[in-house]
Amino acid sequence: MTTIPSITDNQLPVAEDPQLAPIRARIEAGERLSFEDGLVLMQSPDPWTVCRMADQVRRRMHGSTAWYNVNKHINYTNICALSCSFCAFHRKRDQDGAYEHSLDDIRREAMNAVEAGATEVHIVGGLHPWHPFDFYTDMMQEIRTCAPTLHIKAFTAVEIVHLARISKRGRDGYDGILSVLRDLKEAGLGSLPGGGAEVFDDRVHDEAFKGKIRGDVWLDVHRAAHELGLNTNATMLYGHVEKIEERLSHMLLLRRQQDHALASWATAKGIELKQDPSELTSDAVVLTGPSSSYPNGRLPQLGETSMGWFQTIVPLPFIPDDSELQHLPGPMGLENLRMIAVMRLMLDNIPHMKAFWIMHTLDMAQFMLQNGADDIDGTVVWYDITKVEGSGTHQETTVKDLCRAIREAGFVPRERDTLYRPVSRDGQSWKLAEA
Ligand code: SF4
Repeated sequence: MTTIPSITDNQLPVAEDPQLAPIRARIEAGERLSFEDGLVLMQSPDPWTVCRMADQVRRRMHGSTAWYNVNKHINYTNICALSCSFCAFHRKRDQDGAYEHSLDDIRREAMNAVEAGATEVHIVGGLHPWHPFDFYTDMMQEIRTCAPTLHIKAFTAVEIVHLARISKRGRDGYDGILSVLRDLKEAGLGSLPGGGAEVFDDRVHDEAFKGKIRGDVWLDVHRAAHELGLNTNATMLYGHVEKIEERLSHMLLLRRQQDHALASWATAKGIELKQDPSELTSDAVVLTGPSSSYPNGRLPQLGETSMGWFQTIVPLPFIPDDSELQHLPGPMGLENLRMIAVMRLMLDNIPHMKAFWIMHTLDMAQFMLQNGADDIDGTVVWYDITKVEGSGTHQETTVKDLCRAIREAGFVPRERDTLYRPVSRDGQSWKLAEA
């Protein structure tokens, strides 16, 4: 099998677009990129150099490893109190195709996941208008009881805010969110997925998902989760009504919040903090710099800090089919590749970058592994939120196909659990492996 030669710290590709040369120099020095750098990366006529720079950074952080996991998605209902215009998933209760799963259904799904060898269930749904708060804590407890080996990654930020409202804690703002998350964590919640972030901009919010929480509230939910020691993911849904400046502002807001989440870890590790050119502060935790900046390990590990952090960024292309915004074209392959690369370069303090194959196809995800991504997600089985045209809700791939895709892209496949601990496996049974 042919392997792609790796690019070491000192072998950055020569930039064809002269505007990229100073950016390349900053990346080599482990400096943080500015908003203006981001604009250049987004608009350069030479996307391949942008992609190669992202690949170089990705290899500094993860070497030749590419991660996958064995997981199962459970969408407990598509009935939703809101009707976001970009969303083709939601239904009203009396509409064709509306469904809601009982706790028994969910328990069965969790046990099926264990039998199939999954390490994780990923649970999200619509904002169900009538379920009481207990339904959600019972869901966590049921899964923890019947499937104690499964990590429960559940509930996007908008669902957490909905749960604060229905449990009469909505008026308590940040404290209400904190208290809801504390109850869910006690019941078995292990981490939060990153969905629902869309684009942090009020104009975009009002045009495409009015009624849903704004960016500051999404960030508050994740800040509260981090405060409780829960790791979370972050997303950006791009390619609808937003401008590229708004995409970059979104990235910068995530980056600032992550600086705060990692501050105590960085201090304890004696990591030199960098200048943040956008905020003019010198408290940036840059994880993408050369190896010499991180003699004691580049990425935060579980147990090294009581805070949680954003562990993975997941760029999500907008897929217009069947939504109220279906007149929009949605992004295509090259733009999707460039977004992966730009986000890897700009989000220098988020450890992992996921190529979510279910929205990009496995074929595209292979390319993305060579352009900044180090994670190809998992076996999934059932996914009902957004689909590539022509695919059904039953979307499953095998470990064999994930590993083949990774190897063909020139990387070494490694199974992980939700928290990026390596897993060793014998058929359906698995255990955490030595790092
Ligand atoms: S995006 Fe989420 S909150 Fe909005 S309508 Fe769809 S399911 Fe409901």
